[in-house]
Amino acid sequence: MSWALIPLTEEQRAMQESARDFALAEIAPHSDRWDRESVFDRSIVGKMGALGFLGMLIPEAYDGLGLDTCTYLVALEEIAAVDASVAVLMSVHNSLPTQMILRYGSEEQKQKYLRPMARGEYLGAFALSEPDAGSDAASLRTQAVRDGDHYVLTGVKAWVTSGAHADVILAMARTDSPNDRKGARGISTFIITPDMPGFSVGKKEDKMGLRGSETNQLVFDELRVPVANRLGQEGMGFVYAMQSLDNGRLGIAAQSIGIARAALEHSVRYAAERKQFGKPIKEFQAVQFKLADMATRVAASRALLYAAASAKDRGQPITQFGSMSKLMASETAMWVTTEAIQIFGGYGYVKEYPVEKLFRDAKVTEIYEGTSEIQRIVIARELYARS
Ligand SMILES: Cc1cc2nc3c(=O)[nH]c(=O)nc-3n(C[C@H](O)[C@H](O)[C@H](O)COP(=O)(O)OP(=O)(O)OC[C@H]3O[C@@H](n4cnc5c(N)ncnc54)[C@H](O)[C@@H]3O)c2cc1C
Repeated sequence: MSWALIPLTEEQRAMQESARDFALAEIAPHSDRWDRESVFDRSIVGKMGALGFLGMLIPEAYDGLGLDTCTYLVALEEIAAVDASVAVLMSVHNSLPTQMILRYGSEEQKQKYLRPMARGEYLGAFALSEPDAGSDAASLRTQAVRDGDHYVLTGVKAWVTSGAHADVILAMARTDSPNDRKGARGISTFIITPDMPGFSVGKKEDKMGLRGSETNQLVFDELRVPVANRLGQEGMGFVYAMQSLDNGRLGIAAQSIGIARAALEHSVRYAAERKQFGKPIKEFQAVQFKLADMATRVAASRALLYAAASAKDRGQPITQFGSMSKLMASETAMWVTTEAIQIFGGYGYVKEYPVEKLFRDAKVTEIYEGTSEIQRIVIARELYARS
């Protein structure tokens, strides 16, 4: 799909090419098996790290590439167009745990955790959700109690992307007292490593899509976390998480666009090859209109995303535009993959052809990092906040 609408710099073009080459060489040959067998291949982390894909937004001083958001998203779309499971790993790692440590961490935490994360030696995860706290994340119940120079954490975190494989987990827990709840201001963020006593991995989710990405529950059973591993100020953890999700949503939008673009490209090719009534189905106007609408929505989603990412790189607040980008791109991914299956007919409904997987992978983009309903709430709230 043409990028003509968004003029890429030389650096962005080079990054796009490098991500595309990497995805075709190192991901594409394994993607179907990862999906079929629901396996996460840890070796991909080291390979991505070696090329800098896991430290794209981290300054060079901490071993990252120090790139702008647009360049990062260009690379992310290329990875997502080949495999959305690898893309979610890349998005979460680059947008959430690393950015939280970079923005709010102490110098010691940056040296100890951020540097190896930037090099891809440590994989990061983000643990906000719980079994009973999803959209209403501020109602989370994992409790952290101060005990000398440690906090003791007890609770269950849910849906943690890469949870079983992460080396560094940014987890949100309550530091307010059960007798004096402070709502969102009663939550703190902790840097957790799997070797801490009391940490264990719970169930692995058996998902519809993104099956090459592992999603786990994490169990904290009197997990002892040094006070030095609290991120920033006590009581500010929910604010840190929400600010980071503004960036995370740009990553999910790029992932969605990658999925949609792949479905569009497969559909364009298939419609030219598949013949019915003596001619390629692309000759039928009904099919042309579908392709036209698919291409238009992909282009519009990408244009909005790069406008939002540029605003972020200029230092503007992007809460509303981040939500708009994620909402539009994820609904585009779901709609475009649905239309792609229609264009493929019966062949779209079987695993032998690629659009079936894209359709399954697309659905979660409307759910995680805030459902479409939550994005609409954020967008509407900002309208009133500004008026
Ligand atoms: C594959 C996958 C990976 C994930 N990775 C992570 C991760 O790495 N870290 C993490 O912390 N979380 C992760 N999540 C969790 C994800 O962010 C939540 O699933 C999501 O926020 C929705 O929460 P929920 O599933 O509890 O749904 P619920 O909040 O129970 O929502 C159910 C339905 O009710 C709607 N709803 C809820 N409240 C409102 C409202 N006020 N107005 C209108 N509609 C409403 C929702 O939109 C939805 O349609 C992941 C989820 C999945 C599926």
